[in-house]
Amino acid sequence: MAKKQFKAESKRLLDLMIHSIYTHKEIFLRELISNASDAIDKLYFRSLTDSSVGLNREDFEIKLAVDQDKRLLTVSDNGCGMTKEELENNLGVIANSGSFGFKNEHKDQNDIEIIGQFGVGFYSAFMVSSKVTVISRAFGSDEAYRWESAGADGYTIEPCEKEHFGTDIILTIKEDAEGETFGEFLETYRITSIVKKYSDYIRYPITMDVEHEHLKEGSKDEYETVIEHETLNSMIPLWKKNKSEITTEEYNSFYKDKFYDYTDPLKVIHSKTEGSATYNALLYIPGKAPFDYYSKEYEKGLQLYSNGVLIMERCADLLPDHFSFVKGLVDSQDLSLNISREMLQHDRQLKLIATSLDKKIKNELVKMLKDERETYEKFYKCFGLQLKIGAYTGYGMNKEHLKDLLMFYSAEQKKLITFEEYVGAMKEGQEYIFYAAGQSVEQIALLPQTELVRDKGYDILYLTDDVDEFALRIIDEYSGKKFKSVSANDLNLATEDETQEIKKCKEDHKDMFDFMKTALDGKVKNVTLSSRLKTHPVCLSSEGEISIEMEKVLNAMPV
Ligand code: ADP
Ligand code: MG
Repeated sequence: MAKKQFKAESKRLLDLMIHSIYTHKEIFLRELISNASDAIDKLYFRSLTDSSVGLNREDFEIKLAVDQDKRLLTVSDNGCGMTKEELENNLGVIANSGSFGFKNEHKDQNDIEIIGQFGVGFYSAFMVSSKVTVISRAFGSDEAYRWESAGADGYTIEPCEKEHFGTDIILTIKEDAEGETFGEFLETYRITSIVKKYSDYIRYPITMDVEHEHLKEGSKDEYETVIEHETLNSMIPLWKKNKSEITTEEYNSFYKDKFYDYTDPLKVIHSKTEGSATYNALLYIPGKAPFDYYSKEYEKGLQLYSNGVLIMERCADLLPDHFSFVKGLVDSQDLSLNISREMLQHDRQLKLIATSLDKKIKNELVKMLKDERETYEKFYKCFGLQLKIGAYTGYGMNKEHLKDLLMFYSAEQKKLITFEEYVGAMKEGQEYIFYAAGQSVEQIALLPQTELVRDKGYDILYLTDDVDEFALRIIDEYSGKKFKSVSANDLNLATEDETQEIKKCKEDHKDMFDFMKTALDGKVKNVTLSSRLKTHPVCLSSEGEISIEMEKVLNAMPV
């Protein structure tokens, strides 16, 4: 049987598309600039292989112009332009992408970075325009055409004049309506900031004539308006430059500009990765924790770019929670974007990148710990708590990954040390990694329980954050050595003789202990002789899984 073709109610389809694909109206400018950049890319590419084109890289430009009175915003390029047929096919057929076709034809040239692929971006112009006029002249042709449309009702094409090859997209910006403003898209400041946000790394200059007030020459208080032809984008993404060409200054000011911080970052991680996931990453470890870091308000995430065009401002899936403090961006060509290019289609590539970043960040921290102890300690003061929380949450899913990054205060060395350092300094015959929990280092040092362990010459890790003891319980052991609270009942510190002596003593004084227990009337579970006291007459200890300190934390938690 002959198959019938689907028909589409193209008016409705276009209407749907214009109004439901994008969440942010401002995206239209990103789409038009991306198209202009693609058109230039195509011509530039031709100029590389065909010397008769006679154009150099510096000759290309994307120009923006505003006419406030007529409510016009124009995006012009001197790229390949479109013939009459191309105007029909590319702008008259929804979801037809000339750029995608071009990309396919030149698949083997990996230096082309064409952005377009879906054949719908152009129509986003109708979100903000009551009319869109396209004047285009294909390179090498002397005919120009005007394509014009007010949206779903259709379009017209007619011959016209155009001095140079390339394309002008002229938007008649909608009048402000109730609840919706469009006038902002005619404001220089707004346009500049949209370009900066989404198109800063388009590889050709995006220019605009911008008015500036200048002090008149020779005058102290008289101003004049000067129009300057400005380039709005920075063009070369910092992360695409070679590391050796970038100064610390550049890295740092990029960070402060982009991520709104006053403090220099502690560390820059800049990497180009190829393999199962191909991407560029520029990551920063901040110099201090943001004020809301340990609160629910804090949102983790990295900026996500595809071919230098911003796709997502904060992509949370790229960062594991335990490294949520990392700021930065990822640029990848491999992402399968969804049609609005605001989100990703599949998360498979994203997962690959996320896994690779997780490893990278960890390695960088391990290296910092080894080579730059002071910097690491600074880092740890800000974000160590997050690492400990990371080791504890998710049933310790990440404990192996994180345990080498953790540090605790050492009673012996009077500073933060790692588990590795603790175990490395253990005494002959020492069975456990001892720890004691409390409110502060000073307070823990006064605990009667710490005295005997210290007396035996064993070091103790002092745990002062609520999560610490929970984390250690989950981590369970390091290098075959179990963690042991100094408050536990089974420290096994006594020698054989001492044990015998204690046993005898316990029996001798059994009546007194029973009496004390009755007198304390249910307030304690048991009263017994302790072998762990030296200068203190008595101490409280806990039995079972939950320590006294943990119990305090649990009791303080909201139910
Ligand atoms: P996409 O960019 O995903 O291909 P668009 O809807 O943005 O989809 O554009 C459709 C097609 O129109 C492009 O593929 C391209 O062939 C053509 N086009 C759009 N803008 C221009 C331009 N400024 N110069 C030349 N061709 C253009
Ligand atoms: Mg496009």
